[in-house]
Amino acid sequence: MNRIRLLPEQVANQIAAGEVIERPASAVKELVENSLDASATRVVVEIQSGGRSLIRVIDDGMGMSRDDALLCLERHATSKIQRAEDLAAIATMGFRGEALPSIASVSRFTLTTREREGAPPEGTQIVISGGKILEVKAAGAAPGTSVEVRQLFFNLPARRKFLRTEETEAAHIQHYLTLAALAFPEVAFTFQKDGRLLWQLPALKTGKDAAARLASLRERQRALYGGEQKLLPVDFSSATSVADPRDKNAAAASSFHIWGFIGAPGVSRSTREDQHVFVNRRPVENRGLNFALLEGYHTTLMKGRYPVCCLFLEIDPAAVDVNIHPAKREVKFHQEAEVRRLVAQAVRQTLLAFHTGNRSQGPGTGGQGTEDRGQRSEVSPQPATQSALPDFPAVPAPSPTGMAAKPAQPAPRPGFGQWHPLAVAPAAAGASPAPHAAWTPVPSAPTGTTDLADGTPVTRVTTTATPTPLLAVPLRLVGVIGKLYVVLESDRGLVLLDQHAAHERILFEQMLNRLEQNNQAPSQRLLLPETVELSARDANFLREQLTALTRLGVGLSEFGERTFLLDALPPFVKAADARRFVLELVDELKAAGQEVNTLRLGEQTVAKTVCRHAVKANDPLAGRELENLVEDLRRCAMPYTCPHGRPTLIEMNFRELEKKFGRVQ
Ligand code: ADP
Ligand code: MG
Repeated sequence: MNRIRLLPEQVANQIAAGEVIERPASAVKELVENSLDASATRVVVEIQSGGRSLIRVIDDGMGMSRDDALLCLERHATSKIQRAEDLAAIATMGFRGEALPSIASVSRFTLTTREREGAPPEGTQIVISGGKILEVKAAGAAPGTSVEVRQLFFNLPARRKFLRTEETEAAHIQHYLTLAALAFPEVAFTFQKDGRLLWQLPALKTGKDAAARLASLRERQRALYGGEQKLLPVDFSSATSVADPRDKNAAAASSFHIWGFIGAPGVSRSTREDQHVFVNRRPVENRGLNFALLEGYHTTLMKGRYPVCCLFLEIDPAAVDVNIHPAKREVKFHQEAEVRRLVAQAVRQTLLAFHTGNRSQGPGTGGQGTEDRGQRSEVSPQPATQSALPDFPAVPAPSPTGMAAKPAQPAPRPGFGQWHPLAVAPAAAGASPAPHAAWTPVPSAPTGTTDLADGTPVTRVTTTATPTPLLAVPLRLVGVIGKLYVVLESDRGLVLLDQHAAHERILFEQMLNRLEQNNQAPSQRLLLPETVELSARDANFLREQLTALTRLGVGLSEFGERTFLLDALPPFVKAADARRFVLELVDELKAAGQEVNTLRLGEQTVAKTVCRHAVKANDPLAGRELENLVEDLRRCAMPYTCPHGRPTLIEMNFRELEKKFGRVQ
């Protein structure tokens, strides 16, 4: 008996909808992607009841003819690809031809569209309910497309039951729209929720060059987040770093470009919520990229904290597969390891340049009365580069002249609302702020509104504020409290330095510099050498790092199958519990080994652990010693966090002080 039969089209569409349209936000995503693919310059999104009762997306894109409008509701009908080969290099957001029929099969759906080109006298309107076409008629309409989705999942009660509260569904929609708005600053977005206008983001003029694109992205971020995040511009190209010339994808990876913004050292969140990564403008989730970011931030992020970033990867579409996830949320890189390495390098280099770049610009004009920040603070992207920077500068930078030395760059006016790199990033609207999230509004960059030839209002973005690192302004010593916290004063306000954290950072970088220069670190023989026995797996981890350990002054050698002998330590390390020290070392190496694999993290991990055991000087430091501490810190490549990512310095600027004292609101 034959039991197999082809499913009716409508059922097939509902099955596809099960995969593609998970919740109202998926429908919004598909519709907005279609608008963007249709080169819209304006997209209006309206929702009611979290998108359950209404989703309406209106665009001014190219629109569709009557025939196309009928065809686009068929499964596998698309204008974006034609042949199987096209799948290998997708340059549009959509390509499967599934979204519209899927949405139409699970809602009451109205499509109204009119072509932009060729001035057709009227548009077309198609009304569908649960996948059945009810009406097709000519209709008056503005050029572009409007899709109205009412009562999503009305015919799929099981799916409807799984929807969360209206607020949750609306938050998912808003999250997607945020990503779309970040990726397309040249498109104006309007978002209305239950009749209330939430956003009206103007189209921003954006050029091809990196500075213009960074500026418009920054402006868009400002419009979306309201406040000011402490972000550093990233602009990194790799033209030649492809590892294997025999690889047929080598040419593809050669055009790798990464740009956008990342949080300054010390800026982090407890979730990945503010970590946005786009590949060819498509927001993606990719484990490899997550690791690459952590790798880039290594030693500047505390355990359990995540980077804040908005990064755009531009890569030949042929080098990335976007056809691996029904909602196109994930991508696969043909050269995953290489992409990962480049992303980590871009992040690392940007973080290093934040301090080193500012420091090496030479003495500036001093602390007082410099020009308006708004005018001077152009985006200063890091130069594109082809070669890997050493992780830490091999040669320490020349010593600055003293505590109140001239700043490395023109210091900002003493006063308020200055950028400070040490606070935690402000949360996106509505989210709860992270601990010690002190953030102050920066005078927003001047912008002007102009009109394009066709009358579209366009906001011209002129400048973008770049943060001034705290160690680039003069600091004056005030005193020490609790034998630990050094109190300093700058023209911007109050600064506190954690003596131990600073000390650890300095030791850590000194150790790495020694490794870099092939110098043997000083080492002190233990009076009573100790043996430590490890599991076979742990012994393996340790064995690989023995050379690095010796060079760092840790005398550890194999002493039988799985036993190690510890007979020397750097002079600043306490030897009280040698066994614990070795075990901790192994644990750290294992943790690092699982997560990260490049940038010589083994050595860094060893150095980090050694530093944690550094003798904590309990005698209060005084005068000159404290000044030296600040100077040594200033000479570090990553001075704003200890090697474990805790802040070395925190700042409270005058504005925050005034707020606390109730002088201003
Ligand atoms: P895909 O985007 O994968 O091609 P869809 O089902 O989302 O599949 O859309 C089918 C086709 O309908 C698209 O290829 C496009 O030609 C057309 N289309 C959909 N939405 C719009 C729109 N807003 N403006 C113009 N054309 C559209
Ligand atoms: Mg589509």
